[in-house]
Amino acid sequence: MTDNPFFEAWETPFELPPFERIRPQHFPPAFERGMAEHVAEIAAIAGSAAPPDFANTIEALERSGKLLQRVGRVFHNLDASATSPALQAIDRDYAPKLAAHHTHIALDPGLFARIDALFQARDRLRLEAAQLRLLERHHLRLVRSGAQLGAAAKGRMAAISERLATLHTLFGQNVLHDEDEWRLVLDEDDLVGLPDFARAAAAAAASECGLAGRYVITLARASVEPFLAFSARRDLRRAAYEAWAARGTHAGGHDNEPLIQEIVALRAEQARLLGYENYAAYRLDDTMAKTPQAASNLLRQVWQPAKRKAAAERGELAAAALADGLNEPIAAWDWRYYAEKVRQQKYALDEAELKPYFVLDNMIEAAFAAARRLFGLRFTARRDCPSYHPDVRAYEVQDASGRAIGLFLRDDFARTGKHSGAWMSSYREQQALDGEILPIVVNNNNFAKGDPTLLSFDDAHTLFHEFGHGLHGLLSRVRYPSQSGTAVRRDFVEFPSQVFEHWLEVPEMLRRYARHYRTGEPLPEALLQRLLAARNFNQGFATVEYTACAMLDLDLHSQADPAGLDMAAFEKEFLARIDMPPEIGLRHRPAHFQHLFAGGGYAAGYYAYLWAEVLDADAFAAFDEAGNAFDPALAARLEAIYSAGDTQDPMALYRAFRGRDPAIAPLLAQRGLAEPGAAA
Ligand SMILES: [Zn+2]
Repeated sequence: MTDNPFFEAWETPFELPPFERIRPQHFPPAFERGMAEHVAEIAAIAGSAAPPDFANTIEALERSGKLLQRVGRVFHNLDASATSPALQAIDRDYAPKLAAHHTHIALDPGLFARIDALFQARDRLRLEAAQLRLLERHHLRLVRSGAQLGAAAKGRMAAISERLATLHTLFGQNVLHDEDEWRLVLDEDDLVGLPDFARAAAAAAASECGLAGRYVITLARASVEPFLAFSARRDLRRAAYEAWAARGTHAGGHDNEPLIQEIVALRAEQARLLGYENYAAYRLDDTMAKTPQAASNLLRQVWQPAKRKAAAERGELAAAALADGLNEPIAAWDWRYYAEKVRQQKYALDEAELKPYFVLDNMIEAAFAAARRLFGLRFTARRDCPSYHPDVRAYEVQDASGRAIGLFLRDDFARTGKHSGAWMSSYREQQALDGEILPIVVNNNNFAKGDPTLLSFDDAHTLFHEFGHGLHGLLSRVRYPSQSGTAVRRDFVEFPSQVFEHWLEVPEMLRRYARHYRTGEPLPEALLQRLLAARNFNQGFATVEYTACAMLDLDLHSQADPAGLDMAAFEKEFLARIDMPPEIGLRHRPAHFQHLFAGGGYAAGYYAYLWAEVLDADAFAAFDEAGNAFDPALAARLEAIYSAGDTQDPMALYRAFRGRDPAIAPLLAQRGLAEPGAAA
């Protein structure tokens, strides 16, 4: 194929992919050529007659696989944000091929022999600290992939990786199928309780699927959660909740339960081959937490206080429900609805009253402004960039000196063919191995599009969270590609994102950027104070629904031999064992827990959010102590974490920022879980 855009140089701004010219049929030949080039590059390194040194082995490895990366990044971003049956078919075909390709390289004996020789001699190589870490991490990565195993075990490792790639792909596609399949189609009479913004979003969703004049609730979180919070129709709330909770569990061609069973059994087998007791022990060996016990200890520290707080919350909800004429216990489809009622009574805080002040574009401006005051960054809209969807917006990012440091893309709205949730990824990562390469970072959200788009306070948190990940990619100042930006340990990667959420809640930011979409009036001071006063409200619920998932993840991945595991029975038994409050559902049930099963990234790692929250609460407390949310000296030390990528040990980075180890008290206070009377 001569006209394949992947085989040309791109003359676009920041060398963005020329999306308008890329067709699904361009990917297979580009993947094939990318893999072939990569194999040849690795063979040249492994077969080199020259004795191994850092430049001819590690740096050569860092340079390898460029075409494959370019194709893979475009493919995976498009498949997540704007997929199609054609892209999904390519994903099913190439996920196992790509896994086999990477395993084959990781298990190449010649490559490992050279890296191992350098590793054994590392103290004599006079490497810079970042280079030494790079060498150690490449060595560890290969060892953890099975490079030191015998031939039979290597073969089995490779076969398992290939099969897992297929299972992960199918799992994610099944969730998307169930989300796209289900719609609650409503008429005017069914909307009782829904505020204007939810009616408008439901009308827009209806138009999008050709049902103009009616109203549609979908299983996107931004659609179903407001419906559960406001619809006065208990029967409809129940129908929506049950459909949401059932994603991935339907018998037939899109059932995820058999996939989970096979995935956890294969992961456990890989861990055994590598000499670990179970998969969780294997995964956590290369994290900040180091062991499943350390992660569970943290989860256990919040579990009982969270359940106590949730029980107190349930008492308040039950009283509101009784007053509303409900003579039954609160069910999972009632919690959000009565929580909203109690929030209105207790804090005079009404989501529908608040939402007109949270205009998407103003919240984007707020995030940009915080990045400017903290790190000197400027974001300027670029309208000359190629795009895969008209809703995507591009911004050039400049540092304080006016130098361009990267390109930032925003893809904010929910739509068919886009994976649910919110995430950051890259089309290109910062590095400077052979001259400076600037990053192209993208934030994906699934906000319900409106005119203008209005956010809940939770949505605004999500926006700041993903933007924090975005800054981690944009501020990266490293030399080697595999140390770039977010390439840090899994339980550290949520720190830069979560800490950034704190700047949303800084009162002067809210006063300036939370403005009414019609009048432009700032959020009334009394409402702002009530919003901040209500910060701990419903945190018992939020902590329980999250922590239960994190415990389930560790429990499932700590099984030594889960072959033949009955997922439905496991889930039931687990919930009974932790004494899960029946009126609180898991935030993610296993059958749609994409963090764990649509890829391996967060498997045995869902605890990472709470782990990083210890750090983010403790880190922001430093700004509180300084009495200035934009304290320049602290901001400079924080920027050092955002720019370091994986060039240093994360705890060393944190200590350099804070001057000491992290403390857990700010986390407990942040979630309202501190024992009464305990010091704040
Ligand atoms: Zn995150």
